[in-house]
Amino acid sequence: MKNRDQAAALDAADPLAALRDQFELPPGLIYLDGNSLGPLPRATAARVQQVVADEWGRGLIGSWNDAGWIDLPQRIGDKIARLVGAGPGELVVADSTSVNLYKVASAALQAARADAPGRTRIVSERSNFPTDLYIAESLARQHGCELVLAATADELPALLDGRTALLMLTHVNYRSGRMHDMAALTAAAHAAGVRVIWDLAHSAGALPVDLHGAGADYAVGCGYKFLNGGPGAPAFVWVHPRHAGRFRQPLSGWMGHAAPFAFTPGYEPAPGIARYLCGTPPVISMAALDCGVDTVLAAEPLGGMAALRAKSLALTRAFAELVESRCAGHGLALVSPRDDARRGSQVCFTHPSAGYALIQALIARGVVGDFRAGDPSHAPSAADILRFGFAPLYVRFVDVWDAVEHLVQVLQGGQWRDERFARRAAVT
Ligand SMILES: *Cc1c(COP(=O)(O)O)cnc(C)c1O
Repeated sequence: MKNRDQAAALDAADPLAALRDQFELPPGLIYLDGNSLGPLPRATAARVQQVVADEWGRGLIGSWNDAGWIDLPQRIGDKIARLVGAGPGELVVADSTSVNLYKVASAALQAARADAPGRTRIVSERSNFPTDLYIAESLARQHGCELVLAATADELPALLDGRTALLMLTHVNYRSGRMHDMAALTAAAHAAGVRVIWDLAHSAGALPVDLHGAGADYAVGCGYKFLNGGPGAPAFVWVHPRHAGRFRQPLSGWMGHAAPFAFTPGYEPAPGIARYLCGTPPVISMAALDCGVDTVLAAEPLGGMAALRAKSLALTRAFAELVESRCAGHGLALVSPRDDARRGSQVCFTHPSAGYALIQALIARGVVGDFRAGDPSHAPSAADILRFGFAPLYVRFVDVWDAVEHLVQVLQGGQWRDERFARRAAVT
């Protein structure tokens, strides 16, 4: 991509271009943060209005059956299953990613330790998303296990041994955008007798995932990122059928009961994935999530996730190359993998001093990416990160060109030095 005309030509030839019309995007805004909060689908407001006014307002309690509210966790779950290589009836929508992680990791740990009580380690990566590590920490404490964190992905294979019960990884790293080889790591873990939980927060809806193809055990994922389900959308949880009915998750609420409406005092878990439900589904949020998932499924007749992935790679490749060539000498260093096979749907850079100010200056110009602070004590996460997400459903090649043009102007004009963009000390 050498100029804006070439970017426009790529958009004109893009078979997925019309999918952008599914969204309410503020005019003039270049939104490169759909990896953090997906935009509003056009269908959502009317759908939520209908659920509120008709289903709740007029249908009242009858809507649990008449409007199918009670089946929403499974019905939307079956749609998400199509995006991640899972079968129908294997995945449910419920709770948040953090809570689902707690549920599956507890069950997985029970399963692992029933087979091999001597395994007392939970292995993850230091650069994993903090909530995943916090949940793992608390599980380790409860189960008398030890949380072992690899400093880099290369250290993981050596940690897969007879001491390890569980490997908990996020498929695409939230900071670097680095993607694990799910099939290879799962196979290595299984060869060592280790079960694996994959967090698909930055994968589902952004790139093809094949849980069955990878022989995966457990997965969780997020509804409000690339699935466009809205702020705080419910998350999802998948357990391979070979494990789903075998162990209990600890949050034994009535929605996970074999017969929730029998109102018996004793808990009897539902036979399959339904036991991973806990309480009453948040119907209004589920309706919004359903609309978000439909925006991704709309790509199915156009080549589906494979076509979305091809466009995402073209977008991220073009952005990385343009920033490196046009912003050379300004201190930005690419941290996302150059190798397509290792890169998720985002591109991240470090800057030695001005990461926060650069992002703020870009936001002031209508280019929305985000900033993630580094942690000096954690080697792979030590640097501050400028993060740009490229959701292939609605980001265009001209957006890539224009975003880089803004970045060039901010850097060359030194605009980021403006005190408006200075990093404020966190108020605690
Ligand atoms: C976004 C994200 C979450 C979010 O968890 P919540 O419970 O929804 O707050 C969890 N894990 C990863 C890896 C994420 O990227």
